[in-house]
Amino acid sequence: MKIGIVGCAGRMGQMLIKEVLIHPDCTLVGAVEAPGNPVLGQDPGVLVGHDPTRLAITDDASSLFAAADAVIDFTAPQVTLRHAQQAADSNTALVVGTTGFDDEGQARLQAFGEKTFIFQAANFSVGVNLLLGLSQQVASILGNDYDAEILEMHHKHKVDAPSGTALALGRAVAKGRGVDLNQAAQRVRDGITGARTPGDIGFATLRGGAVIGDHTVMFAADGERIELTHKASDRSIYSSGAVRAALWSKNQGKGFYGMAEMLGFK
Ligand code: NAD
Repeated sequence: MKIGIVGCAGRMGQMLIKEVLIHPDCTLVGAVEAPGNPVLGQDPGVLVGHDPTRLAITDDASSLFAAADAVIDFTAPQVTLRHAQQAADSNTALVVGTTGFDDEGQARLQAFGEKTFIFQAANFSVGVNLLLGLSQQVASILGNDYDAEILEMHHKHKVDAPSGTALALGRAVAKGRGVDLNQAAQRVRDGITGARTPGDIGFATLRGGAVIGDHTVMFAADGERIELTHKASDRSIYSSGAVRAALWSKNQGKGFYGMAEMLGFK
């Protein structure tokens, strides 16, 4: 399968290049970065410490979409939405790892699924997706008697908060309780907040150092506390999942897909 990477010099972009280069079923057909980025013109293989590929990194996303069967995008919401338009125009599959979409951006991204294959995951790790399923299940069993709090920590460069994964965990807890996260979410606490409102789903965000991604879903009651935790220690868990999604697109039609469909659980 012919795969292109946009945002190829980013933390995830570099992991994705490596993953595509070593995968026996993938061929890297291009790598794109933002205009003005110092890596433009470099060989993407050399950039990530592999053998030369005879490709050069460009800022020409439309040529990449024309050449690829699937493009993988871990960039920023406005950039991804432009790429989704290009994917729709060229009928190319788009795999999105970008987080931080607002409601309008998220709706626009999903709508492109009517034109081409769009796959989005706030987190491509199998372990985190298991955590999502467990969180929903535990929330449905415990109900509102146990206060749900979601803690996450990421590296100091991360620009959105709470993380896309923390919000997905919040949606899983809300779904388990049969409520809407937008009504229940308590995303920030500061100052004299008053006592906790029963049924709130709280979020706490930590940023620092090189932490790849830690998430805990906590259910706290009088006398006991249950904590479900996932800690990522290597970004390859995300890049291998994203490449798997790109390969999976081969046998799918247009539509908006996620990890639940690919892994076969709801
Ligand atoms: P990063 O800042 O290291 O990389 C983003 C890259 O996109 C940069 O190299 C930047 O130059 C590039 N870019 C910006 N504008 C561009 C344009 N117009 N064309 C092409 N490239 C452009 O960030 P990162 O840590 O790699 O994370 C990127 C995104 O992926 C974030 O939203 C992050 O939250 C998300 N992420 C998702 C998962 C997941 O499993 N879904 C895992 C890790 C990170």
